[in-house]
Amino acid sequence: MVKLQRRKFIQYSSLGALSLFAGFGALSSPYLKASKFSLRPPGALEEDKFLASCIKCGQCVQVCPYHTLKLFDIFQGYGVGTPYVEATNRGCYLCEAFPCVLACPTGSLSHDLNKQNEVKMGVAVVRNLDKCLGFNKKKVDKKSISAIYKHKNTNEQEQELIKKVESFEGKNCTICADVCPLPNPLDAIIMVDSIKGGKKPKILDACVGCGACAELCPTNVIEIEARISYEEYYQNA
Ligand code: SF4
Ligand code: SF4
Ligand code: SF4
Repeated sequence: MVKLQRRKFIQYSSLGALSLFAGFGALSSPYLKASKFSLRPPGALEEDKFLASCIKCGQCVQVCPYHTLKLFDIFQGYGVGTPYVEATNRGCYLCEAFPCVLACPTGSLSHDLNKQNEVKMGVAVVRNLDKCLGFNKKKVDKKSISAIYKHKNTNEQEQELIKKVESFEGKNCTICADVCPLPNPLDAIIMVDSIKGGKKPKILDACVGCGACAELCPTNVIEIEARISYEEYYQNA
């Protein structure tokens, strides 16, 4: 997949450079500044600095044991060749030593990042609560967790993740809260009583927007808002 993405990138490199140039212009446009940012890997500098310093080498993509990171291609607008996280496909699991950060040769993923709770990718937002299994007091079945098998799951960490998700089969759903990879997950997400007699997720201020909960929620109840803090999002919500 990485090879394919890189090949695509090289194939369109001249157009990519043009697109990148246009991208800097786009970023200065007030209209696009107000539009949504992409979810970047842990430690990513502010978007304009990130775009200016990332050399699109793909090193972070290659070392990520969860196959979380992808590179933007020519069809995805500005920032061609830069890494991003598509949380509903695969979240970031905040690996302890941040291999992605260590692999980054330019500091576009800041080497000042040391701890998982210092990450500032974004913030989780609960949407579509009516679909939430926990809220409706419904049990997790095999079909509801089947998305995990669409990945190749070639690494040990991915196999561990499968086991963890499978352990919820037949139980009331609390997947989002139980998979939060922070060392202090209860400060980021908790399950609270729902009016239907079940439990629903509540996001708290330690959430760093890694997207693990968004990926593994069986019914896509959780989304990630990129590059915004809990305080900024929830104070204005
Ligand atoms: S912290 Fe780990 S899972 Fe997250 S992007 Fe970096 S290498 Fe991948
Ligand atoms: S609540 Fe979700 S997005 Fe926030 S840190 Fe935990 S798993 Fe990541
Ligand atoms: S993982 Fe999704 S369905 Fe399950 S409790 Fe959390 S939000 Fe609800």
